[in-house]
Amino acid sequence: MICYLNGEFLPLSEARIPVLDRGFIFGDGVYEVIPVYRRQAFRLAGHLARLGRSLDAVRIARPHDDARWAELIRELVAHQEHDDQSLYLQVTRGVARRDHTFPAGVTPTVFMMSGALTLPPADVLTRGIPAVTQTDNRWFRCDIKSTALLANVLLRQAASDAGAGEAVLLRDGFLTEGSASNIFVVRGGTIRTPAKSHLTLPGITYDVIADLARDNALPYEQCDVHETEVRAADEIWLASSTREILPVTALDGRPVGNGVPGPMFRRMYELFQAYKDIHCPPAG
Ligand code: PMP
Repeated sequence: MICYLNGEFLPLSEARIPVLDRGFIFGDGVYEVIPVYRRQAFRLAGHLARLGRSLDAVRIARPHDDARWAELIRELVAHQEHDDQSLYLQVTRGVARRDHTFPAGVTPTVFMMSGALTLPPADVLTRGIPAVTQTDNRWFRCDIKSTALLANVLLRQAASDAGAGEAVLLRDGFLTEGSASNIFVVRGGTIRTPAKSHLTLPGITYDVIADLARDNALPYEQCDVHETEVRAADEIWLASSTREILPVTALDGRPVGNGVPGPMFRRMYELFQAYKDIHCPPAG
């Protein structure tokens, strides 16, 4: 597999970074995961805008402008064998003697790789997945897409240990998001999800769902979602770049609604697939 590291395209197995890279030492970096359909990056402008906001928030200089990022991404995608890809991009503060304070005059490390996008298979979409609730014990800047993901890793592992595919996170009695996804609930025909804040990652898939709800006049609200509303939901979905939209059909061992994916999920899933076909059309 060909990856990109600091200006060079090279086999992943040959890519090396110094152990003093602050990404390795401190988790001092930010990242993006961009889905690529039919060799076209999906919602690229949104991903690059979020990358820019993450970099600004952690005070790492933007290594490239959007046009240059788009070129590099196109070239990396062209190097891969699969048409549908999941492209990972990371920028760290760079290599320096270990000291918490920002080093002076250091060049950020830029790394990208892309592999096959493996979406949830049809039987998983038909059945949905089980999830468990967990206390959201992360920091207060969850809006930054930081590579420092230890809390998310532990939360997802706790879900996995419980036989579940995602952790639904609750902070002070309210829904925030998943360990690696945004969460939506449906009750009485209305889609509800928390508004963007420092407590959640502003998901690109979340934005697509908001656009599709608005354009198709589906009842949709961004508002506080209390734990009781999560537990009484007719439907729960998770949304992310690598899982698209996926129904959660059991929560903490109890069925969500009827325990099968609901009608609002099916509608949104169809709209999402149609949107993909329009925005990443087949070549020719
Ligand atoms: N929240 C968290 C914590 C995530 O890690 C992710 C995806 N990696 C998301 C939400 C969904 O964001 P996106 O739709 O941009 O993939």
